[in-house]
Amino acid sequence: MKAIAVFPKSRDVQLIDADLPSIASPTQVRLEMLDVGVCGTDREICAFQYGTPPEGSDHLIIGHESLGRVVEVGADVKSVSPGDLVVPMVRRPCPHAHCTACRCDRQDFCFTGDFQERGIGGAHGFMTEFVVEEERYLNPVPEALRDVAILVEPLTIAQKALIQIWQLQERLPWGCPHRPGKNHGHCRRALVLGAGPVGLLGAMALRARDFETIVYAREEAPNEKSRVVEAIGATYASSKDVPPDQIAARFGAIDVVYEAAGASRLAFDSMQALGANSIFVFTGVPGRKEPVAVDTDLLMRNLVLRNQVILGTVNAGRDAFEAAIRDVAEFGRRWPEALRSLVSGRHAPEEYRELLLGRPTGIKHVIRFARTD
Ligand SMILES: [Zn+2]
Ligand SMILES: [Zn+2]
Repeated sequence: MKAIAVFPKSRDVQLIDADLPSIASPTQVRLEMLDVGVCGTDREICAFQYGTPPEGSDHLIIGHESLGRVVEVGADVKSVSPGDLVVPMVRRPCPHAHCTACRCDRQDFCFTGDFQERGIGGAHGFMTEFVVEEERYLNPVPEALRDVAILVEPLTIAQKALIQIWQLQERLPWGCPHRPGKNHGHCRRALVLGAGPVGLLGAMALRARDFETIVYAREEAPNEKSRVVEAIGATYASSKDVPPDQIAARFGAIDVVYEAAGASRLAFDSMQALGANSIFVFTGVPGRKEPVAVDTDLLMRNLVLRNQVILGTVNAGRDAFEAAIRDVAEFGRRWPEALRSLVSGRHAPEEYRELLLGRPTGIKHVIRFARTD
């Protein structure tokens, strides 16, 4: 079967002919992969910045954003049956008895770092035709979401962030005043840094909860991303028009910053826009570059005097996957065209070079593996 793999030793990326996987235990499920998303992480693996093959293998099959269809189930599998659509989770627990997080099925909070991530580190991924996976790592998806469910995995980042934002905001002994027909973000202002897929999906999740939402990115409007932002009732701002230290003056103090740009300078500069009792959520992983100067006194003063929280978040648990599946359905009801426009193109596996090694334009590109669907 076709699979897209990196060979870190020979620094090569290839479309390979891999062995068909088969079910080896009664709790396993065999999936035909339908869509596999391409993201910055995949491109970084293909540039050999990281990515570790499974033990004993000279290559790693990449791909972690996926949608599959169940084709075969082991004798003990109860939650899915052949024909069902599923989105697999990415991270697998570390083996250590003392890792409370992994022992509680919350490997997204793993203490040791010895977890595996399918398609990223230590385990083959989903950029292939068939995959075998344990039932417990699969999330069933309604058939109606066939065309957009590939967005579930990148949306889980925002969902895990939102779950934590609500938990942190519970430290404040009041909520938004009740307004009929409004969700509980309605009295808060959110700033999304970055207008890539993670940023735009995060903006949709914030808008779905009625946050006033500003998406802040480099490119000047109008462009395809600013059109999505406007379609969901958010505001697009370019850093060329509004410098980071002017954000609060232009839009008012920010209650939640959702960072999805991976640019640390921009992130720390825009921290000045944070208001009282606010939360800054980092999701990006910047490459290591030259150190830059940051006014640490100002930052620390604001954190203390304004009761601010800085939160980093990575990966996602089952609760975030389930929330993402519900939200993709909700986005489809509210903004069907904007949601669909996030998928810029579906491509044959043979086009992997342009997608992974080139600089594709657009928002989210998807590789189609299914022969039948
Ligand atoms: Zn990704
Ligand atoms: Zn662990």
